[in-house]
Amino acid sequence: LIHLHNVQKKFGHTTVLDGISLDVRAGDVMAVIGPSGSGKSTLLRIVNQLEQHDAGLVAINGEKIDAATPRRQLARIRTQVGMVFQGFHLWPNMSVLDNITLAPRTIRGLSREQADAQAEQLLARVGLSAQRDRRPENLSGGQKQRVAIARALAMEPLAILFDEPTSALDPHLSNEVLEVMADLATTAGVTMMVVTHEIGFARRIANRTVYMQGGRIVQDAPTDTFFEHQQDPDILKFLSHT
Ligand code: ATP
Ligand code: MG
Repeated sequence: LIHLHNVQKKFGHTTVLDGISLDVRAGDVMAVIGPSGSGKSTLLRIVNQLEQHDAGLVAINGEKIDAATPRRQLARIRTQVGMVFQGFHLWPNMSVLDNITLAPRTIRGLSREQADAQAEQLLARVGLSAQRDRRPENLSGGQKQRVAIARALAMEPLAILFDEPTSALDPHLSNEVLEVMADLATTAGVTMMVVTHEIGFARRIANRTVYMQGGRIVQDAPTDTFFEHQQDPDILKFLSHT
């Protein structure tokens, strides 16, 4: 679904991604871990094309993306890859329901009835049916993040990218969100890339774990192998501090 080959990204003179190659297949849950500044967020932003790469290949569902890709096509590809951020990014002046239905109505062309019906199902799935008419400001952080997940799912994306979805939350609220993500991964088979500091979650849910350092992928391994047979001294040191 997601294919990157030798992707490079610089900000000014700083190389932030230095030859990233990876493949995410349907049903994969890929955990992306590594030290601060290693390029994890930039990687997700390039997969979603919130940033453009300088060189190398990015392909989503077989469609190649480069500087020549027309905006329209980019916008369409972007709707196929959902994104959930640390800071929720909900629209403050809309109800929970409208946050979820806006893009399906305007971009996917669903009627209000269709979009509402789908949103109700998604709200039930993330445990927020009772909150449908509230504004985001009246929700807890964990509830906001679950709305953001429902909103991403409403576009029926090929994959969802999560950038530290729980790092703004206290442990109890984090768990609510992680349980929803675990449910999506295991029962709904949603394809995900998850940048996280929640090593326990990565171990439990991810089928692959990628370790980044200095803009490179140092290791890309099945999660069991990564955690149980880890030999790399830098990675062992990183894991011992988390
Ligand atoms: P963290 O764990 O702290 O979120 P990260 O692994 O997500 O880190 P990135 O946010 O991808 O790291 O940043 C990688 C590097 O790129 C950092 O050195 C950062 O300062 C730099 N960087 C990121 N975005 C920009 C930008 N828009 N302009 C300039 N430099 C940037
Ligand atoms: Mg980051």
